[in-house]
Amino acid sequence: MVSSIYWNGEFIPYGEVKVPLEDRGYLFADGVYEVIRVYGGKPFALGRHLERLKRSSMAIELPFLLSTEELSAAAERLIALDNKKGDTILYIQLTRGAAPRSHIFPDVVRPNLWMMLKPFLKEIDYRNGVKAITVPDERWSRCYIKSISLLPNVLACQKARREGAFESIMIRDGFVTEGSSSNFFMIDEGILKTPPLTNYILPGITRQIVLELCNRKKIKYSETHIGLGEIYCAQEIFLTSATIEIVPVVCVDRVNIGTGNPGEKTVELLNAYRENVSVFP
Ligand code: PMP
Repeated sequence: MVSSIYWNGEFIPYGEVKVPLEDRGYLFADGVYEVIRVYGGKPFALGRHLERLKRSSMAIELPFLLSTEELSAAAERLIALDNKKGDTILYIQLTRGAAPRSHIFPDVVRPNLWMMLKPFLKEIDYRNGVKAITVPDERWSRCYIKSISLLPNVLACQKARREGAFESIMIRDGFVTEGSSSNFFMIDEGILKTPPLTNYILPGITRQIVLELCNRKKIKYSETHIGLGEIYCAQEIFLTSATIEIVPVVCVDRVNIGTGNPGEKTVELLNAYRENVSVFP
């Protein structure tokens, strides 16, 4: 059960929040968001997530009215109000606010900024790894913006579930972009590979941290384009996000990856990530 909601500067019981029907987030998906994992009451890499929220907001020409410091303090307060203290997910959404429906921005924009803390419920089989499928990437060309407009991602994820898989890996012009809600990594001849930061992928915070861990652990990596055919021959594959951390993929499109078990480097990075969840700013 969700307890309080942060709504434009106030902390309100969940059932008492009134979202206007004409919120542009609701009408046009005109907004941006963030998802942050909270470990034992501590939000992980909060600063990096808030900076990305600000970048997403700027990218859609939406004024970012609070400083990241103010927003961070509000998030900490919301977490402190929560009585569960366990592992939770902090969701932040910023929309262009309510106005009579028109494609044109309103003359005076009053953004709606809200935050919610929800229990972390995902059951993920880290021990045996998960299956994935590939799907065409049917999104727009500004995927670096963490937009609440997620219909292609939702449909891709649902297709994976229907086919008994955990995630869909999206393919654009024959190359891997990312998962429907995760970044893609593979190990090939001992080298970690991940698609480069172009406008076609989200610059994942977990992706960034994994690359920092590689630097620390002297694991060689390359940010490079990965063709669809290459993934079936990978030694290891894993997917990352703040919510799922590092998830080993053992089968793609019914083809076993490597030995069909979670790979050695994947497990090493997952362990390192978990050891560091309180360390990274
Ligand atoms: N790509 C997409 C499309 C996503 O939705 C997510 C999840 N936010 C990610 C990548 C991973 O990003 P992060 O590591 O910041 O959670």
